[in-house]
Amino acid sequence: MKKQNSLTWMQKFTRLFRQIAGRVTTHSLPLPSGTKRRTILSRGRKMTAIKDDPQRWPNFKVSEFACKCGCGTNLIQPHYLDRLQGLRTKVGEPIPVGSGYRCPKHNQKVSSTGPNGPHTTGRASDVRVSHQLAYKILQEAPRFGFTGIGVAQKGDVKGRFIHLDDLPDRPRGPRPHVWSY
Ligand SMILES: [Zn+2]
Ligand SMILES: [Zn+2]
Repeated sequence: MKKQNSLTWMQKFTRLFRQIAGRVTTHSLPLPSGTKRRTILSRGRKMTAIKDDPQRWPNFKVSEFACKCGCGTNLIQPHYLDRLQGLRTKVGEPIPVGSGYRCPKHNQKVSSTGPNGPHTTGRASDVRVSHQLAYKILQEAPRFGFTGIGVAQKGDVKGRFIHLDDLPDRPRGPRPHVWSY
């Protein structure tokens, strides 16, 4: 007879999941050397954020990517802004940002992806585009390294957007990946 293990499979799974998820928190993502840092405090936790850099990101302000729940946390990643700036320069039109970084609590509230969704990594945003600009963005996004592309192009034009993230393949979902809402 097999010896009874002290942990259930669910406990084992949860433990493993936490180990993996813990390794891939936003805070462990390295900033490239030379990136301007600013330290902020949110609920007693130190969080680093980046500052505007008009030379590097002439068409985006870092503040456009702050969490909209009121907490003000903003852990958008510099390499993510590099990709978005590259895309912006290529399409030659303003790309309005609807949602950028989200704190885990806010993401859980507004997204089915829960407290660990793409927006909590600082490597995702929803850009408010439609029609011809949406077409151009879909055409160019993979070339700039975006690997998660969510398309919301139904209904009221004001509500349309494209989600763009550059996450690696797992643990938050398969990449590269395209989906619709
Ligand atoms: Zn928040
Ligand atoms: Zn999104």
